[in-house]
Amino acid sequence: MIKIYNTLTREKEVFQPLEEKKVKMYVCGPTVYNYIHIGNGRSTVSFDTVRRYFEYRGYTVDYLMNFTDVDDKIIRAAKELGTTAPEVAERFINAFNEDTAALNVKPATMNPRVMDHIEDIIAFIAALVEKGYAYPVNGDVYYRTRKFAHYGQLSDQSIDELEVGASQRTGEEQKIKEDPLDFALWKAAKGDEIAWESPWGAGRPGWHIECSVMATKHLGETIDIHGGGQDLTFPHHENEIAQSEAKTGKTFANYWMHNGYVTIGEDEEKMSKSLGNFVTVHEMVKKVDPQVLRFFLATTQYRRPIKYSETTLHEAQTNLQKLRTTYENAKFRLNSSHYQASDEEVNAAVLEEFEERFVKEMDDDFNAANGITVVYELAKWLNLASEDPETDLALLAAGLAKFSEWLTIFGIYFVSEELLDEEIEQLINERIAARKAKDFARSDQIRDELKEQGIILEDTPQGTRWRREA
Ligand SMILES: [Zn+2]
Repeated sequence: MIKIYNTLTREKEVFQPLEEKKVKMYVCGPTVYNYIHIGNGRSTVSFDTVRRYFEYRGYTVDYLMNFTDVDDKIIRAAKELGTTAPEVAERFINAFNEDTAALNVKPATMNPRVMDHIEDIIAFIAALVEKGYAYPVNGDVYYRTRKFAHYGQLSDQSIDELEVGASQRTGEEQKIKEDPLDFALWKAAKGDEIAWESPWGAGRPGWHIECSVMATKHLGETIDIHGGGQDLTFPHHENEIAQSEAKTGKTFANYWMHNGYVTIGEDEEKMSKSLGNFVTVHEMVKKVDPQVLRFFLATTQYRRPIKYSETTLHEAQTNLQKLRTTYENAKFRLNSSHYQASDEEVNAAVLEEFEERFVKEMDDDFNAANGITVVYELAKWLNLASEDPETDLALLAAGLAKFSEWLTIFGIYFVSEELLDEEIEQLINERIAARKAKDFARSDQIRDELKEQGIILEDTPQGTRWRREA
């Protein structure tokens, strides 16, 4: 029974999917105008770990993560770089795919982009205008926030508190809106900026509308889980709820999940682009083993902050190295004893006990910190078993398989001197998924990894075959 802390109700709730053994999940993705920093990387890693755990528990996950490829920041970056907005977007989508592949993030089932959904966005806004939830003015279209009764529920703020904050804003937009709380769904074109024709004149979508449109279009009017960084709770997710529920009259997302910040420095300040205190994933993976960074980001409970420093990163490195040693020792013991896997029943009561505890911890709102503690305990058991001359090799092999499987939930793969057939198959399947998602960086990386281990892949019309180099 998986329990999820739902930001909307501020309670841990038992997860009940809309469809049996299926999860429809939408996570807000990056605005693609530069490299992602460790804080953005954490969000991607957190939800990848959640997704992998659901899969471990037998669910099929429809995992959508959007790319915001139309935005003020992209237009600005294009001007600075002397290029076009679509070119900037393309470049940083590729960079995102490369960086997240290095962190072993599985490609999303789908990465919808704003530019491919302009017609859907216009139709969605028109429906809101039709229902009286939105109004055009001077080529812009705004959402009538006060008309939506539950506004503020997700971020736990009353509409009047919000009104006080909003009324202090200044600028052109404030003068033409009916109410300071109203937000833009559509923005009239300025100068020669990228724009599309609409019933309200040439313009482009505001930021919030894209997620409502793409989530409901591809996953349905009600989805299971909506995720994102904690800083997106207000106004972005609050606005997504207002837009979606006003249009459909249905609950938009049953569970709202928000990951915590990565903090940096002595004051434990939130890492962010605007504060300028960030480290990009792109630079980092050149300096440290990407597996260490993944391990660092994946093994804290996702809602808790992560302190980023040389010390904490080093700690992750040490812990990961210990696990790698456990893996290699067990592998060595099995190889040197010429252990052959068979269908023989293993007396695995001890492993079942570990399993029960691991699942109990992870079921509790994906508590990765407690989950990894059980992995450490299993490592201790494996170390003893590897050294014991009397050890039951079938049991050791089963323990090692469990250990490896759990580590993949956290995105960690150890590749030993000699790959087992199942490990090769697993990597080939991951490569097929990567290719389907057009994530060629990851696909090439897997091919190279295998090649280093002397495994040759052949893509045939019947599928991918593999052989060991002679
Ligand atoms: Zn979003």
